[in-house]
Amino acid sequence: MEQEIHITLRFDLAIGKVNLNEIVYRLNQIQNPLMLEILKTILMGYDDIISERLSRTDIYPSKARKGLGRHIRKGDSENRLCRGRKILKKGYREKPRQISTVFGKLDLRLRRVECCTCGARYSPLLTALQVGRYARKEMNFEHEIVEAVIDTNYRRLIDGRSIDISLGGIHNIVVGSDIDKTFQEPVSTEDLSAILADGTGVKQYEGRKGELRAVIGITNKGRVEPLGSFTNTEWEEIEGTI
Ligand SMILES: [Zn+2]
Repeated sequence: MEQEIHITLRFDLAIGKVNLNEIVYRLNQIQNPLMLEILKTILMGYDDIISERLSRTDIYPSKARKGLGRHIRKGDSENRLCRGRKILKKGYREKPRQISTVFGKLDLRLRRVECCTCGARYSPLLTALQVGRYARKEMNFEHEIVEAVIDTNYRRLIDGRSIDISLGGIHNIVVGSDIDKTFQEPVSTEDLSAILADGTGVKQYEGRKGELRAVIGITNKGRVEPLGSFTNTEWEEIEGTI
């Protein structure tokens, strides 16, 4: 569904006194706030579309509600999902939801709706955007990384390479390390037959995308020697450290 955003930028030009660098400098300064405003406009528009489609079931076919309106049935102790997709609009939440983005913090006013089937109240935009229902002030970042590492990278690394290390062993390597720093103990490179590196995207606090990168050495005996794990670090820097 194609849409447009129209932006008006008011500016006061110091005619006869301004140079190119100064104009570029000022524009650079408003980049992130501008992106936040654009994001906000997109999300609020999306919120409107979602609630329109879920409330006007007389106009929109069920196909138009696909992927929208998912929520947990009211009072369901096992958190099962409700099949109801018709809602009543119930205005906006009192407090805006703060979402961290690469452009900075976004304060988003969220629509609140009530399910006509089970009566649950929820914000359909959050589930549509796959933003967690419960805002956690702090996320256990290490735990997330360990899960990501075990589920993807290391499993991929180890499958088919006959490296003798258990998943529990990997868990200990990762958990036992200070995840955001390189390993501190010096490792002798003489015993290594290879060095392998791999990276994977990880979800960070409130959905921000992060990158976890790990480097391991393979010893002549075929064992894994951890060399370092890095979060949000450029490969050049990792190469230098290793
Ligand atoms: Zn419901």
